Amino acid sequence: MQGSFDKTEPSAWRPIPARAKSLGRLLSAGARAVLDVVFPPVCLFCGEFDPPALDLAGFCASCRAALFGEPWSSCPRCAAPLVSNRCGSCVQRRYAFDRTFAMGLYEGELRDAVIRCKQARFEPLALGLGRLLGGWLRERVAEQYDLVIPVPSHWMRRWTRGTHSAGLLAERVSCCLGVPQITGLRAVRRSRKQGTLSAPQRFANVRGVFRPSKRYDFHHAKLLLIDDVMTTGATLGEAARVLKRAGAAEVCAAVIARGTGMARSF
Ligand SMILES: [Zn+2]
Ligand SMILES: [Zn+2]
Repeated sequence: MQGSFDKTEPSAWRPIPARAKSLGRLLSAGARAVLDVVFPPVCLFCGEFDPPALDLAGFCASCRAALFGEPWSSCPRCAAPLVSNRCGSCVQRRYAFDRTFAMGLYEGELRDAVIRCKQARFEPLALGLGRLLGGWLRERVAEQYDLVIPVPSHWMRRWTRGTHSAGLLAERVSCCLGVPQITGLRAVRRSRKQGTLSAPQRFANVRGVFRPSKRYDFHHAKLLLIDDVMTTGATLGEAARVLKRAGAAEVCAAVIARGTGMARSF
């Protein structure tokens, strides 16, 4: 029994000698050095071997700077860039999500990274971006959430792609924030690809596509939805609407990138 542990018993625990500890550390450092030679660390985005200032997420300094880009003045609800202090997206419609956190704009290197994440062979990149997003949220968002929920995709799309980027991102965000991740939504039908549709078509395309899981009680819960990109906000808006109908008190969205190209085409 842990509480009544007697150090005088013959089998009693003995402290590890300091010399053995330092030997262990030396062996561990040596093993790491050997592994670095056999499998040199590589930047997840540019692929450079053993680059300077590789961070824990797996990105070199120049890729990290390129992926984050410049900060922009954004709408608190949907993260779209503000024009004359007005949001072109929110003026057209009211989203069901309460806030949006976007790490960058859907352009340049960040756009390339998000597109790559949709392919199975770039799963390490998706996990690295998830870790970046999790660290970014931890530094900037004081609010506490009860659950992290990835925006689901239909099983057939997951099967044909061989991966689910929102799920990988959510996994890492959940670890970084220390908030449990659940499969709180499922896609009950296969919608058309949003990228091929106009903005009004996108909202119609995702209507009724999600169902909340019956395994969880969402009443009064504060939820953080995770996806790779928000373009019109149709998909995340529909996911938030369904969760609010299931009783959630607050639903916020966190994405790697916020698209701006469709914002004016409502
Ligand atoms: Zn790099
Ligand atoms: Zn807005």
